[in-house]
Amino acid sequence: MHVLVLGAGVTGVTTAWYLAKAGFQVSVVDRQPGAALETSHANGGQISISHPEPWANPGAPRTALRWLGREDAPLLFRPHADPAQWRWALAFLRECLPQRTRRNTAAVASLAVHSGERLRALRAETGITYDQLERGILHLFFTPAEFDHARTKLPMLEAHGIRARACGSDECVAIEPALAGVRDELAGGLYAPDDESGDACRFTQALAELAAQAGVHFHYNTTITNISRTRGIVDSIGVRDAAGRSGALTAGAYVMCLGSYGSALVAPLGERLPIYPVKGYSVTVPVLDRALAPSVSLTDESRRIVCSRLGERLRIAGTAELNGFNTAIHPARCQAILDWLNARFPGATDIAQAQLWTGLRPATPGNVPLIGRSGLPNLWYNTGHGTLGWTLACGSASSLADLMSGHRPPVRGFPFLHCDD
Ligand SMILES: Cc1cc2nc3c(=O)[nH]c(=O)nc-3n(C[C@H](O)[C@H](O)[C@H](O)COP(=O)(O)OP(=O)(O)OC[C@H]3O[C@@H](n4cnc5c(N)ncnc54)[C@H](O)[C@@H]3O)c2cc1C
Repeated sequence: MHVLVLGAGVTGVTTAWYLAKAGFQVSVVDRQPGAALETSHANGGQISISHPEPWANPGAPRTALRWLGREDAPLLFRPHADPAQWRWALAFLRECLPQRTRRNTAAVASLAVHSGERLRALRAETGITYDQLERGILHLFFTPAEFDHARTKLPMLEAHGIRARACGSDECVAIEPALAGVRDELAGGLYAPDDESGDACRFTQALAELAAQAGVHFHYNTTITNISRTRGIVDSIGVRDAAGRSGALTAGAYVMCLGSYGSALVAPLGERLPIYPVKGYSVTVPVLDRALAPSVSLTDESRRIVCSRLGERLRIAGTAELNGFNTAIHPARCQAILDWLNARFPGATDIAQAQLWTGLRPATPGNVPLIGRSGLPNLWYNTGHGTLGWTLACGSASSLADLMSGHRPPVRGFPFLHCDD
């Protein structure tokens, strides 16, 4: 069967790869001139299996209130007269209830563990390189209260088979010597040795190349304008090329991997996807002094900022802003990240050459992605990965390929759509 994958971000390209491996004939459509040029372009680089807890958790409303009105807030709500934004914000609040947080965390944890296994297998199979480091992630806490609270999560991680341990500040510095300058400020850390980091864009572009060699056809510079339905199934997608010419592409099945932009396209089909863009920023800087720049991937849990070494570059990313589809770079938001870099690792990088970037995380309120069949028999979803699209890419895509092949994916307790668990 011919399958058309809509979108060539990390989710679409991994989907195309695993579908081709499963024996489908695959084509991919994207409006950009290449793969991974939107949200998958310059993210935080973390394969963060040890952080399955969603932003929607019992502590989130308090955090949002604490930072209310501050332009450098890690979580920022810019209200619009847009019912979708308010609907999503209310649903987010509902997902902050303890039992919902527990359920969402468990679903993401089991998918994340599976995804880590699939990523390692893919690397062994293809030899793909993307500035990856297998040095773990160190989560940093700068107040004793935050550190104490974080330690209560260790049994949950262990129950999911995720290795992590609490470390005092000296051990944090032993794991990552570049932290020596902040030793006295650190309350402690959680170290997850099996986590990884790497450049999602390089990975996606390299995998797209391998997929093309394996027979996957990529239609770049092709904007999807609508999805057409006849007698209860999708019969084609309307497209427009770079020259403005309109046309249609057809296949036996279609997989939606359009990030934040899929909801509007499926709404006329009666499908409501609870995905809203959550804007984030990253800064990429060349490393000047290797000894001063960290190579273990870090998460500053107090500021919600992550930092990954990508070869001779350092990528620092974070902040979450509910601001519609606005992709303008807001200087105060980037400055908060640059200030963090200056304070934590002075002299490590060439800040004058910082590359600023912003992207829209395709987020569901509980950060659980939508994977499985839609209400239409030949339209499938692999989308809504929010803060963890790079972490979950290989497991989500291979699970979707399993489902489309009629098999149950080996991910216990994940709520695949329109599939019995
Ligand atoms: C600041 C930031 C930091 C992050 N850090 C991490 C991290 O450390 N670890 C992690 O796991 N995740 C991280 N993420 C999340 C991760 O980047 C996303 O979840 C992931 O990139 C989403 O991938 P995607 O393929 O679903 O979407 P996208 O990469 O956005 O791909 C969607 C594709 O669809 C195409 N498209 C959209 N509309 C149309 C249309 N009408 N016609 C044709 N093509 C269209 C786009 O061109 C795009 O290529 C971060 C995100 C941000 C913003």
